Amino acid sequence: MKQIAVFSGKGGTGKTSLVASFAALARRAVAVDTDVDAANLALLLPGEDTSEKAFYSGRRARIDPERCTGCGACRDACRFGAVRAVGTRFEIHTISCEGCGVCGLVCPVPDTITFEDNLAGTWRIRHTATGLLVHAQLGIAQDSSGKLVAHLRREAETLGERAQMPYLLIDGPPGIGCPVHAAIGGVDLVVAVTEPSVSGEHDLIRLLDLAEHFRRPISVVINKADLAPKVSTRIRRVCHGRGVPVLGEIPFDPLVPRLLAQGRLPLDARPATAEAIRETWKAVSEATERG
Ligand code: SF4
Ligand code: SF4
Repeated sequence: MKQIAVFSGKGGTGKTSLVASFAALARRAVAVDTDVDAANLALLLPGEDTSEKAFYSGRRARIDPERCTGCGACRDACRFGAVRAVGTRFEIHTISCEGCGVCGLVCPVPDTITFEDNLAGTWRIRHTATGLLVHAQLGIAQDSSGKLVAHLRREAETLGERAQMPYLLIDGPPGIGCPVHAAIGGVDLVVAVTEPSVSGEHDLIRLLDLAEHFRRPISVVINKADLAPKVSTRIRRVCHGRGVPVLGEIPFDPLVPRLLAQGRLPLDARPATAEAIRETWKAVSEATERG
């Protein structure tokens, strides 16, 4: 199974709609939405969620109010300010707790502070018209997005291998931080989606550096390429200078946002747009096969 990871550096460049279009064009693929902080690939890949599971990461302290004597040792020891006084007793502010365990070490009353696995989010498997989608929702104020991304990838890889899917399509998270590192490792091809703008060019260069750091082959797709031809030319030059192929250029099409608002793919947009996306998928899949 070939793994293709699509990144964009920031939101709004058309990354998710391109991944959904690739999934439709591949005909058989397992897609995984690793943008767990703002997952929305599921909106473009309808189907039935056949499995929903909890994702636990880390642990959180809990104080037994019946046993707590109110000595305050746990509050004094907590470096994260997660213990607060409630009357003469103390309780844990779960969102602030890092699960480090220090409070449990200093508490003089045995078994007063216990630790529970932290529910960090939920993840689901969806059967779509063209394969499978693995998607998730990270819980509010959870800091485990990198771990959740790694978990989703493992699950998607297992499902894809079992179903003998030819492609694993990764809808990457924005930025260049921990979740991106979890999404990029070991993929066969990175596809950087950019748009001809100053910020698009800036984010693209960071992605090129990132792929180089992880030693992953990278290619570029310029979305809305005709919106600012001079910047598109500059982006092509940057890519050429670094030996990075531009595998697709998709024209600006005002129909696309309207289609996306209806949960439809840009493949239903103007013929020139749909054709450019098809050509892009052809070039991306061929580049992946070539290795
Ligand atoms: S586990 Fe650590 S962070 Fe959480 S309340 Fe105890 S000392 Fe504070
Ligand atoms: S250290 Fe233990 S007994 Fe003292 S306030 Fe904290 S939980 Fe209560």
